[in-house]
Amino acid sequence: MLSMLSLVVPCYNEAASLQRLYAETVEATAGLSQEFELILVNDGSRDNTLDVARQLADHDPRVRVLSFSRNFGKEPAMLAGLRAARGDAVAIMDADLQHPPQLLRDMVGVLDRGEADQVVARRSRDGDSKVRTFFSRMFYKVVNGMVDVELTDGVGDFRVMSRRAVDALLQLGEQNRFSKGLFSWIGYPTVMLSYKNVLRDAGESSWTFKALVNYGIDGVVSFNQKPLRAVFIIGVAAIVASLLYLVWLLVGWLISGVQTPGYLTTITAVTLFSGVQLISLAIIAEYIGRIYLEVKGRPHYIIAESINDPADPAVTALDHPATNAQLERGGHA
Ligand code: UDP
Ligand code: MG
Repeated sequence: MLSMLSLVVPCYNEAASLQRLYAETVEATAGLSQEFELILVNDGSRDNTLDVARQLADHDPRVRVLSFSRNFGKEPAMLAGLRAARGDAVAIMDADLQHPPQLLRDMVGVLDRGEADQVVARRSRDGDSKVRTFFSRMFYKVVNGMVDVELTDGVGDFRVMSRRAVDALLQLGEQNRFSKGLFSWIGYPTVMLSYKNVLRDAGESSWTFKALVNYGIDGVVSFNQKPLRAVFIIGVAAIVASLLYLVWLLVGWLISGVQTPGYLTTITAVTLFSGVQLISLAIIAEYIGRIYLEVKGRPHYIIAESINDPADPAVTALDHPATNAQLERGGHA
C-alpha cells in the first residue's frame, strides 16, 4: 500500500492557472487513501506565480513551494521537485492543466496494485496545430532512429513513478537533462494510459520553434555518439569517392593525354568538403561543449526560497528570507 503521493509541478508564469490547479488536484486526490503533498517549483516566473503559490501554501500546509533564483528551465524544475518529494509515489504534472489531475486516481491505482513502476499518460494530438503535430512526429521519427532508448509520441512528462524509479532517476546526475530519455533509460515496468488532448487553460506555452529544434538536438546528442560515427562514415565515403575520381582521371590521362580538369569540379570539391568539415567540427564541438558543461559540475539550479519545507519546520521563508535561502548542490548524491 502506498502511503504518500507527491505531486511535482514546475511553474513558469503560471499565476493564472495555479488556483485552479490546486482546486482540481485536491478534488482529484480526495478519494485516494494516500496522503498528498503538492510541490510547486517556481522556475523564476516573471508574473506573480510566487505570490499565488505563497497564498496556497499559507492556507494549506500540504502545499510546498520551492522558488528558484531565476528561470532555469523545466528540467531543473522537475529535478528540484523530485529531490524534494517525500512520497512513495511521485507524480509530475504541468501547471497549465494540460495534464488533467482527474487521471491521477487511475494512474496511482496502477502503481498501488504493483502493476508498474512508471505510469505514463499519453495524450492524443487533438487541437494541436498541424505544423506543430507534423514537427513533433518528425522529431520522434528522427530521434528514435538515432537514440538507443525508446521515445513515444504524445508522451510528455505527465507520469506517476514509484519510489525506486524516482531514486533511480535521481542517480543520473547529468547537467543536460533530457527527461524523456532518462525516464526510458531507467527502465522498470511501464504502463501507458491514454487521454484526450486538453488545450492550455491560461497563459502561453513557452515553447518556441527554436526551443523545439534545440530540444531535438539535445535529444540526439545527449543520448549517444551516433552523430560522431556518422561523421566518420561521411569522411570514409568522401575518401573513397575522391580515390575513384582520381582513378577515373588517371585512366583518362593514359588514354587521351593531359587535359585541364574543369573549374566546376574543383570548386564543387572545395566547397562541398569545407562544408562537410565545418559540420563535422560542429558536431564534435557539440560534444565538447557538453563535456565542458558537465566538468564544471555546477548545481542544476539555485533555490532562493522554500516554503513549508518539512525538513526545516521552525524556519519559514517569510520570517527569515535570508537564512532560508539555500544553495542546492547539483547531482552528486
Ligand atoms: N515550465 C517551467 N520552466 C520553463 C518553461 C516551462 O517550469 O522554463 C513549466 C510550465 O510552467 C508548465 C510546464 O513546464 O508547467 C510545461 O510548459 P508549457 O505548458 O509551456 O509547455 P507545453 O505544454 O507547451 O509543452
Ligand atoms: Mg503546456
